[in-house]
Amino acid sequence: MSSSFKSPMTVVGGNGNPIGSIHRPSGEIHVIVGPMFAGKTTALLRRINSEGNKGRNVAMIKSSKDNRYAIDSVVTHDGAKFPCWALPDLSSFIEKFGEDGYEKLDVIGIDEAQFFEDLYDFCLKAADQYGQTVIVAGLDGDYLRKSFGSVLDIIPLADTITKLTARCELCGKRAFFTLRKTDDTQTELIGGADVYMPVCRQHYVNGQSVMEVARSVLESHKVQSDPILMAAPVI
Ligand SMILES: [Zn+2]
Repeated sequence: MSSSFKSPMTVVGGNGNPIGSIHRPSGEIHVIVGPMFAGKTTALLRRINSEGNKGRNVAMIKSSKDNRYAIDSVVTHDGAKFPCWALPDLSSFIEKFGEDGYEKLDVIGIDEAQFFEDLYDFCLKAADQYGQTVIVAGLDGDYLRKSFGSVLDIIPLADTITKLTARCELCGKRAFFTLRKTDDTQTELIGGADVYMPVCRQHYVNGQSVMEVARSVLESHKVQSDPILMAAPVI
């Protein structure tokens, strides 16, 4: 799915003056969603690299909750790397990056966006007030196919939305959903292929039988590292 629109409205600040156009003509927000293993981070890195190659100032942010691969790099499942800021929230980014440095940024990439509660405010400010391009990658749904974090909240702000798909681990068809292979029930459970698998609709719906297969697979792959449990409220 991909769509775009242009708002005919003029955004007006609290003082009655139009905001935006402070540094650049117009900001942009692009959102990349999909299940795990759909290549969201790879797509994000490709776009950030492409913007950097055009001479634009780029920065990448990811959640400090996800330290599976490296704390100071965004790393794809297939090993591509890009230096990044690992932060607990987005509001601390300007502080850490420095006001001067932040204002000079043209493009900001945000990976694992479902973990940032202040995603909406950050994107709004970057695009509307600073004219920056924000490229956001994250899960649209959790393992129960419910909205995950604030990712869906920024759809009304976005220029484009791209939903990527993975391959169903059980039948090879297009996978839209993420199935959890363990019986943990908290929303935030950081893990990789040891905990999650991408599945098509049929195999998501047949979750019980899939879970049985998954548990036996999991048992035979116990050599993999244990998932990192996050202390988060069950939603
Ligand atoms: Zn399937």
